[in-house]
Amino acid sequence: KTLKQGGTFVVEPRRLSKASAELRARGFGEITIPPSTETAEKQASRCTDCGVPFCQNACPLQNNIPDWLRLSAENEPREAWRVASLTSTMPEICGRICPQDRLCEGSCTLNQSGWDAVTIGSVEAWLGDQAFANGWVEPIRPAAERGETVGIVGAGPAGLAAADRLRCEGYQVTIYDRHDRAGGLLIYGIPGFKLEKHVVQRRVDRLIDGGVQFVLGCEVGKDVTLTELRDRHDVVLLAMGVYQPRILSAPGRGPDSTVAALSYLTHQNRRDLGDAEQDGWHEARGKRVVVIGGGDTAMDCVRTAVRQGAASVTCLYRRDRENMPGSAREVVNAEEEGVVFEWLAAPKALLSQSDQVTGVRAARMQLTEAAPGQRRDIVPVPGADFDVPADIVIEALGFSPEPFAAHEPDLHLRDDGTIKVGSVSFATSLPGVFAAGDAVRGASLVVWAVREGQDAAAEIDRYFKTRTEEVAA
Ligand code: FAD
Ligand code: SF4
Repeated sequence: KTLKQGGTFVVEPRRLSKASAELRARGFGEITIPPSTETAEKQASRCTDCGVPFCQNACPLQNNIPDWLRLSAENEPREAWRVASLTSTMPEICGRICPQDRLCEGSCTLNQSGWDAVTIGSVEAWLGDQAFANGWVEPIRPAAERGETVGIVGAGPAGLAAADRLRCEGYQVTIYDRHDRAGGLLIYGIPGFKLEKHVVQRRVDRLIDGGVQFVLGCEVGKDVTLTELRDRHDVVLLAMGVYQPRILSAPGRGPDSTVAALSYLTHQNRRDLGDAEQDGWHEARGKRVVVIGGGDTAMDCVRTAVRQGAASVTCLYRRDRENMPGSAREVVNAEEEGVVFEWLAAPKALLSQSDQVTGVRAARMQLTEAAPGQRRDIVPVPGADFDVPADIVIEALGFSPEPFAAHEPDLHLRDDGTIKVGSVSFATSLPGVFAAGDAVRGASLVVWAVREGQDAAAEIDRYFKTRTEEVAA
């Protein structure tokens, strides 16, 4: 498309390049080809600095996008990075995996006026990669050490973001995680083709270098109790995400007839990291794969199955394309890679022979007229059921909180099991215990986990400083 700028018409590419679908299917590396400096600057220069920063308003971190785009376009990437780092503890990660089509880029004025949006996410990821490559990422060196300690449960983006901010203020921070690696879903959930693991590890390494302690392989509620952590630390922050998979309720579903999405993705991530061997249960090579669900997790499963060499991959989603919760960008990527989408298809039964799953029976659905102010509902089309053959059925139906929090009688929860916190304070019902991220919001986005981790850290800082003032008074 062409855009009039300063009286001349310029032609700009819409997207930074990605590898061909054929090449992508052969491995688990990121599909985006990093832009050259010239391309990134060109993209950044497409920002018209429209005066109303819709992109910034749509970003959960309120990133100062117009400013760092301008600085990038002016060949001042180091300064642009400084601005980007003020509001975000992991711009290079958000730049890679935010659903920008629903956030900053979706709101870009160019997009609203029929032009292609500035590719904000890819410029952000490029800036981060430049910063790490050129040594612009500042180490954490607090101006003064403080004696108070904070124990964080969960080394996902919420816990890591909070640790970063708290340690910068000089607090003594320990992160507990039941996994053997830090990163949460950034490491074991999200596949390498969206986010390569070294990108996460260098953030973790920076925290270790800055003095954050990690206690890995430690499950709170099993290896150590919350009460013990509260005795050990002045403040505890709960950032343990949501991990209870929702399961299919359909005739024919036995305990071993389906594979849980996160187990499938974690296994592949472990293989990529060199921890795990191929096993039959999590292996799609030569098999017909059916994935049930329409969110980001389902998209990651179908695309993982393609890379494992599945004979066919079909995604069943009960609503239509417009109403699916996953990022539209990921659906396009999946389609390019050969995934077949059955929209308006609700699983009705699992079919099997000799205890081996052979397929999924699905009801064809249709959308009803919407009641005023309500979403359109779906109802089955009579007599339109159909069967999809399958050797593996992967359930990707979302997650609820695990019962960990429910074992703490004085920790107040919402009906759905998420932790109740003060909307500004992030304080739970337990004195000195705060919570953030998916454990509070329910399954959400990385950028929201980062925002909440950062905000909770600011509240914890305020809590300590208020206490210090009270003691002094
Ligand atoms: P998590 O990232 O879940 O981290 C929680 C940590 O707590 C984990 O490391 C866990 O091991 C640990 N933990 C849990 N219980 C305990 C315990 N009892 N004791 C000790 N440790 C514990 N979002 C996007 O923005 N873009 C995407 O592309 C995207 N893709 C996704 C793909 C998948 C497959 C999934 C499942 C989610 C995806 N999301 C995506 C959502 C995003 O990953 C989450 O919203 C985000 O990671 C939440 O961060 P968190 O820190 O709250 O929790
Ligand atoms: Fe866009 Fe996400 Fe970056 Fe915000 S954090 S500017 S929403 S890519």
